[in-house]
Amino acid sequence: MNRLPIFLNLVGKDCLVVGGGTVAERKVHLLLRTGANVTVVAPELCAELQQQVFRGEVMHIPGNYSKDCISSCWLVIAATADEDLNRQVAKDAAQNGKLCNVVDDNAASTFILPAIVDRSPVVIAIGTDGTAPVLAQRLKNQIERWLPQRIGELAAQAGRWRPLVKKRFASLQERRRFWQAFFSGPIAEHLLAGRRRQAEQAMRTELVGKIEDATSAVGEAWIVGAGPGDPGLVTLRAQELLGRADVVLYDRLVAKTILDFARKEAKLVFVGKRAGASAMTQYEINALLVKLVREGQHVCRLKGGDPFVFGRGGEEAQALAAADLPFQIVPGITAAIGSAAYAGIPLTLRGVSGSVTLATARLDKGSHPDWTRIIQAGDTLALYMGTSSVAEIREQLLANGVTAETPVAFVENGTTDEQRTLLCDVASMCDIATTEYLSSPSIIYIGAAVAAARELQWFDDSAHHSGAHRFDVNLDSENVASASM
Ligand code: SAH
Repeated sequence: MNRLPIFLNLVGKDCLVVGGGTVAERKVHLLLRTGANVTVVAPELCAELQQQVFRGEVMHIPGNYSKDCISSCWLVIAATADEDLNRQVAKDAAQNGKLCNVVDDNAASTFILPAIVDRSPVVIAIGTDGTAPVLAQRLKNQIERWLPQRIGELAAQAGRWRPLVKKRFASLQERRRFWQAFFSGPIAEHLLAGRRRQAEQAMRTELVGKIEDATSAVGEAWIVGAGPGDPGLVTLRAQELLGRADVVLYDRLVAKTILDFARKEAKLVFVGKRAGASAMTQYEINALLVKLVREGQHVCRLKGGDPFVFGRGGEEAQALAAADLPFQIVPGITAAIGSAAYAGIPLTLRGVSGSVTLATARLDKGSHPDWTRIIQAGDTLALYMGTSSVAEIREQLLANGVTAETPVAFVENGTTDEQRTLLCDVASMCDIATTEYLSSPSIIYIGAAVAAARELQWFDDSAHHSGAHRFDVNLDSENVASASM
């Protein structure tokens, strides 16, 4: 380790920035965030610095740098475009025993500025000793993604409670045990989820109760949407919770790569339906969730797409609510939204489509959807679970006044490497589904706006298939213009 990372307290300290350009401005900005008194020496200032001087946030010494500027300051940053001048500043600083950073000059600097993840009061500094600033930036971005969003609030609240905890637990060992249980327990979870009030309540109980209670807390269920397939479409919140779960209960439609976000020690349990194998019933899944949470586990219930869109997340939440157990719901990008984006299908389009209907083509126990209502509900129709009912759908569309020329798209395995888009119309939809062996999972889009997919293809969805998979039949622009639903 060539350099010691330290966190300097600069509140009220005089700091000097030499240079008045945009690079200097960024350093001034950083110093101001720490509460330092900042003086800039430069003959000219960029617009932003001028404003800061005007607002009285920064002092300005107009003119060229001279050695005298350094004597009264505590720390110097040389940020001019003149390398020799920067080195002179560094030399003067060294002679006067001042801390000095020279922008882009590791050797001349007594300290260098790290890449910073700022969730104050939690601050993470990343340095590469000047060898690879871009790598530092990449690491910063990775940490930004991985770090819980409210980690700063958690730390700040823990700080506010420290005196109370100190009063409650006399020995250092007791306090350490308390805080260890605190950060892995329900109070921290409440704070990370933004539930201040519940956290305060739980803390009150905790402090009047016994220390052991802190470790024997009940768990929590997180009903989380994993998105339609592309791991890049998983939310930060989903990643965060996967990284903290004790158990992950996942469905068939959850991509394996998304499970990689789970904590290494987490138990992964497949609860979905797989062709041939007997499925766990919804009732059994609900019961398992309740049992695990009661045992004190943090359970991530991971579902394809969004948990509240044909995901039965509602039933699971009801089971947890009935058992009076805590849960959170994390939305995901639902298949109809994700697949439309990746197939270039604008679900609404000015002048063409002003509404979207998300509907299922299949209901439980052989009952049929109310097709008339579904078809007449909006301009663009996105049908889930329709792969094996294409003939019925076509018949119903025609029977309910949709013209044979209305554009139709099938998007199979949307947003994944296996995505396949078939463009056709109501007249040909059955033939296309048959000859192209349309398979599940797929979304069926119907409506005039679907035609725009012909110009808006951007995602390469033929890469993993041979032959023409962006199938295009009978869809000239005249037909599109006259098509209606
Ligand atoms: N909760 C999920 C839907 C589950 S129902 C969501 O919000 O997306 C299962 C149906 O979703 C499938 O029959 C299919 O119609 C659709 N589906 C799920 N993933 C899909 C994908 N990657 N591409 C196309 N359709 C998909």
